Amino acid sequence: MIPGAFDYHRPASIGDACRLLADLGDEARVVAGGHSLIPMMKLRMAMPEHLVDLRDIGELKGICFDGNQVVIGAMTTQADVIASPELAEKCPILRETALQIADPQIRNLGTLGGNVANGDPGNDMPALMLALNATYEIHNAGGQRTIAARDFYEAAFFTALQDGDVLSAIRFDLPAPGHGASYHKQKRKIGDYATAAAAVILEMAGGTCSRASIALTNVGDTPLHAEAAEAALAGTPVDDAAIAAARAAATSITAPASDGRGPAEFRTFVTGVMVERAIRDARPRAA
Ligand SMILES: Cc1cc2nc3c(=O)[nH]c(=O)nc-3n(C[C@H](O)[C@H](O)[C@H](O)COP(=O)(O)OP(=O)(O)OC[C@H]3O[C@@H](n4cnc5c(N)ncnc54)[C@H](O)[C@@H]3O)c2cc1C
Repeated sequence: MIPGAFDYHRPASIGDACRLLADLGDEARVVAGGHSLIPMMKLRMAMPEHLVDLRDIGELKGICFDGNQVVIGAMTTQADVIASPELAEKCPILRETALQIADPQIRNLGTLGGNVANGDPGNDMPALMLALNATYEIHNAGGQRTIAARDFYEAAFFTALQDGDVLSAIRFDLPAPGHGASYHKQKRKIGDYATAAAAVILEMAGGTCSRASIALTNVGDTPLHAEAAEAALAGTPVDDAAIAAARAAATSITAPASDGRGPAEFRTFVTGVMVERAIRDARPRAA
């Protein structure tokens, strides 16, 4: 199957991309790695008249450490994330999550920006960005703004992005040194989207959890921030009772579809299993 006809544009700067998008209006779409958009165009679920390809814009690529913050350009690929030794050392859950996305070919082209901008609840990076409390930097012809990942996702395939917007970068504070984290994903086979997945980040002080971050993938219309589950762990030694309470709190906020990945009840149950496994992996990783 091939997509319908479209005009192709390849700007060399963010400014040029924004001007093009403003001129072309709502018939234009940004394309990054193309691994979500092009399949949707082949299925006629998206039929843009213009594609604005961001691949030549060097300012959108790269991983930059700025004090205790990380700034990752939107066009940085999953493969780039996996290959970064600094990210692997300072925030290993990013690499762990990227490695569970699709397969190497898709990770070589698929971008972090495309993954978080897409708005598909099946994408893995949005839940991690909720857990990291990331912010998204957005440019358009009128200027620049930032949006917290936790405010970005409105419904399946609906986000805070407006026509003409280019997501330029993802920014977050590094979790404290000595934190423990884990991303657990249940999928039917390699390359599949999650039946359910959970991102967990724990900071421990003197054997007590000083901060917990938990978010869930593909068990609702949007990625879900599991705040009650976080509260169930905070201030505890992350023992069996606290883990059981966090698991129950996380499953109580899910609303998965019944589909080829299983009935809603099963996917809710799997969410609990993923949350528990991620906590049990993260706990010993925390110093
Ligand atoms: C077989 C297969 C399996 C997959 N499995 C998984 C999986 O397990 N987990 C997972 O997370 N993903 C999976 N994916 C999706 C893949 O990770 C995509 O690459 C990703 O979702 C989108 O990134 P992209 O760079 O390809 O974006 P594109 O497909 O180019 O764009 C996706 C959407 O985001 C918009 N967009 C992209 N970049 C920007 C930007 N900078 N500013 C504004 N809007 C932008 C586009 O307009 C489009 O609407 C799979 C894809 C395939 C084909």
